[in-house]
Amino acid sequence: MKYSHVYPASVHELPGAKIYMIDLGDRDALVCEGKDYFPQEMNELTHETANRLRALFPFTAPVPVLNYDRSVGVGDRLGLAGPGHIRVFEKYDAMPVFAQQSIRELNLTNRTFEDVLDSATFAVFRENFTRGFGADGDHLKKPEDIEYALSLGFTMITLDLSEHIHANADGEYSQDVRELYLGKTFRVEDHEIEFTADELKRVTGIYGDALDFAVQMYDRFLRDGTYKAEFEISIDETGTPTRPSEHFFVANELKRRGVVFMTIAPRFIGEFQKGIDYIGDVSAFDAEMDVHAAIARHFGHKVSVHSGSDKFSIFPSVGARTHQRYHVKTAGTNWLEAMKLVAEHAPELYREVHAYALKAFDEATKYYHVTTNLANIPSLDTLSDAQLPALFENNDARQLIHITYGLILNHGDFHARLYAFWRAHADEYAAALEKHIGRHLETLGCPKR
Ligand code: ZN
Repeated sequence: MKYSHVYPASVHELPGAKIYMIDLGDRDALVCEGKDYFPQEMNELTHETANRLRALFPFTAPVPVLNYDRSVGVGDRLGLAGPGHIRVFEKYDAMPVFAQQSIRELNLTNRTFEDVLDSATFAVFRENFTRGFGADGDHLKKPEDIEYALSLGFTMITLDLSEHIHANADGEYSQDVRELYLGKTFRVEDHEIEFTADELKRVTGIYGDALDFAVQMYDRFLRDGTYKAEFEISIDETGTPTRPSEHFFVANELKRRGVVFMTIAPRFIGEFQKGIDYIGDVSAFDAEMDVHAAIARHFGHKVSVHSGSDKFSIFPSVGARTHQRYHVKTAGTNWLEAMKLVAEHAPELYREVHAYALKAFDEATKYYHVTTNLANIPSLDTLSDAQLPALFENNDARQLIHITYGLILNHGDFHARLYAFWRAHADEYAAALEKHIGRHLETLGCPKR
């Protein structure tokens, strides 16, 4: 090879050429040695380069993955988590969604869907991960956002119905719906789901508009099969847990109206706060998961568990109740792992970021619902450098750092300094993710490959 600092797993051959990635110190680049498959011999990692790679090496383009028994979304807010995530999915028998970002996360990190997808493409090429991965336009609410994600080749659309769900509204229903549900009891494995007049009025009131919207979006973007993308229905961003009757009604109506969907994300009982374990009664969750999993099996979709970062106490229930068929999403925990590394290896920088996060916290609570009590976080002056990493075992400190990511990355020179740090500690970051995300899969009971 003509260049040094080659990533060994990245060396690929095409007739007349060797194509590989090199480490230029402050960034990576793609080399095409021999025949001109790329415009230059040495190419910057741009969207054009990624497009070319996806055309030449199909394993670097996303594919639908929800049809596999186990699929796990591992959002990568920084565009740096790929290599660590890849180590996990080399080991466990679940299909990954490496590109997964919501519009909120894009805005807070000043990233684009192009960039999110390209980061995944470059990572799988560099590490030669050929099993396939998905790309999820997460929590999309607007047609223009769906179109944007699909036009780039995203293979999954998570349609967020929250703006069309009307809590406590009584609905009117059609003759069809009346005949199908009123006074009926449906048997789903060993559960019974009953639609009394009141329940039917309630459920149609809450979901009537949402179902219309889902059907519209499906008709407009997916029905004709132009895009090879799978549909997830998200009803999790609501004030109260999704009742079994609601899950059943939504799934049954979507099916009846010809919508093909792979997953539904209900809102579960208890609290799924970002970046910390489940808050609530685990046995109550287990009982609910049992019904939701049975409903999903009844219709042939999978239950999708959102805000799955660090929910170790309920993962055994998710794995068992779904009979090992699930979709789980994690997003923020890889950012926390990245910050923990800063606390371990660059205490001065960590102290600056932490102090800023305390100031920015109020602003950040506009975007995220948390119950953080800042008074539970020890003051940094009382901690030695060696004690800083232990902050990541304190739930309030975790949430402080978790929800302020956008403000931190946009403040002063933090972005440049943090990215320089992470680049210099790329191996440690990959090892930390391998362990931490690996623990998620292990607790879910995911078999090894
Ligand atoms: Zn969600």
